[in-house]
Amino acid sequence: DAEVALVGRSNVGKSTLMRELTGHTFDTGQRPGVTRSPNHYDWASEDFVITDLPGFGFMEGVPEDVREQTKTDIVRYIEENAEKILVGVLVVDGKAAIDIIDRHSGPDEVPYDVEMFHFLRDVGIPTVVAVNKMDKVDDRDERLNELCERLGLPTPWQQWRNTVAPITAKRGSIEPMNEAIRHHLHEQGRDD
Ligand code: GDP
Repeated sequence: DAEVALVGRSNVGKSTLMRELTGHTFDTGQRPGVTRSPNHYDWASEDFVITDLPGFGFMEGVPEDVREQTKTDIVRYIEENAEKILVGVLVVDGKAAIDIIDRHSGPDEVPYDVEMFHFLRDVGIPTVVAVNKMDKVDDRDERLNELCERLGLPTPWQQWRNTVAPITAKRGSIEPMNEAIRHHLHEQGRDD
């Protein structure tokens, strides 16, 4: 089945977003590191399957090697299913993403969000960055431009509306992301 795959660090609001997209209830605020395998759900209004990949990032009480394994599993799943994954959605926390990215940038370190963004594109999966929790962001344009810079996209962010989608999942305000996803499905002739 054609699918849309969601990836993102723990606590970015992936469960909240999944609830909006599928109508199912999810265990939000779940202890990070608990969901280890990909979960598939029907997208309520579309003829696609949404795959929720495990949240990645700091997980309290979860050993480093388990964290690394989670990441390896995500990458392997995407590689093995790249043919049927029509769109990748990288969910980030609009309020925290820049700080987290900068904290994890270094000579030997590529931040997870940046790594995933490039990885998805490298395996040929059009990717939408769903910038969540925009209700907590007051310098919206500035913040989205900074995110573009970190991801290697020229500013201003407004030229990337098919890639950068500011949303507030908690309030069900996710239309920019749906639009961007539909755009990529349409480009692949899969929006019937
Ligand atoms: P997950 O770990 O990525 O699945 O994240 P959750 O969906 O469990 O959400 C983590 C926390 O972020 C919860 O407290 C949510 O209520 C909160 N959250 C999710 N979406 C939003 C949003 O759009 N705005 C705000 N302010 N908080 C949100």
